[in-house]
Amino acid sequence: MGARKSSHRNRAGDGIVAAVLAWYDANARALPWRRPPGVAEPADPYRVWLSEIMLQQTTVAAVRPRFERFLARWPTVEALAAASVDDVLGEWAGLGYYARARNLHKCAVEIAARGAFPDDEATLVALPGVGAYTAAAIAAIAFDKKAVVVDGNVERVMARLFAVETPLPSAKPELKRATASVWPDKRSGDFAQSLMDLGAGVCTPRAPECGACPLSRFCRAFALGAAQEYPRRAPKKQKPTRYGAGFALFDSKGRVLVERRPDKGLLGGMLGLPGTEWITERPNGDALAAAPAKAPWRHAGLARHTFTHFHLELDVYAGEGAARRIGGRYEWADPETVRLPTVMRKALDLAFKQK
Ligand code: SF4
Repeated sequence: MGARKSSHRNRAGDGIVAAVLAWYDANARALPWRRPPGVAEPADPYRVWLSEIMLQQTTVAAVRPRFERFLARWPTVEALAAASVDDVLGEWAGLGYYARARNLHKCAVEIAARGAFPDDEATLVALPGVGAYTAAAIAAIAFDKKAVVVDGNVERVMARLFAVETPLPSAKPELKRATASVWPDKRSGDFAQSLMDLGAGVCTPRAPECGACPLSRFCRAFALGAAQEYPRRAPKKQKPTRYGAGFALFDSKGRVLVERRPDKGLLGGMLGLPGTEWITERPNGDALAAAPAKAPWRHAGLARHTFTHFHLELDVYAGEGAARRIGGRYEWADPETVRLPTVMRKALDLAFKQK
């Protein structure tokens, strides 16, 4: 990039920063982990960290009540560090990968031992479960450090602002450079959050409201009349489907048999219904051979769930009786209150209807 071009971009960058911060001052979303714009005291790093880990897989709307509950139960990082891993995993149920919850707890223990959150990206990124994005978000939002924070919303805004032709995901480094080229030295945290809010509320994936956007006069995609055509995307690979069976065995007291899944792997360490492996071919053998009891099993339906890398079709069977195996990883639980990951809750709800 030549000197002339770069000075043009810097001037445009200043205009972009001023426009988006002024818009943020008037339109910032009120979120429970946030310090409103213009308030002098910094955001609580514990809240920022917790919200960022939760938001990695779930929407703001879904995270908000779960965040409040987490915070009511564990108001400080020290309180979270003192909790049992099982309690944390239970509270995490339905929020996605459980490895995140385990790392959350590990990280809380480490922070509690250090006495405070570190405030620089390099130290933050070495903490359990804290990736480059989360480290930058904490450094910028909780400590107002100049750290370039690029999530999906920011990527979309930048791809449109600069009409980036490289398709995602290969465009990621280019989008990060574009973001860095406009990042301000001051109000770094507010700038990060202003771009996130703009992406979530104005520059939305399907219906960007360019007429209401503070960046429209800088935006190349808008000038081209092609906002929705950015970011460019590589053709999507189809997700494969896996198949399996799950068994809901109820005892005479109405309890259901659940199994603690192995620590490693998908849904690791969580409770679930006993079942078969999840395999890539539709099984043609007898799934009931894997059942935890010789019961008159009824087919209760098909629980469908989509994970990040595959769809799952789980044949759910319901039955009553005594378990062939109990103890070890197995236990009886109240089917209404047991905390299960979403796919297992869907399966148990199907079985419950058949009871
Ligand atoms: Fe997005 Fe439209 Fe604003 Fe460009 S003008 S940043 S496309 S909302």
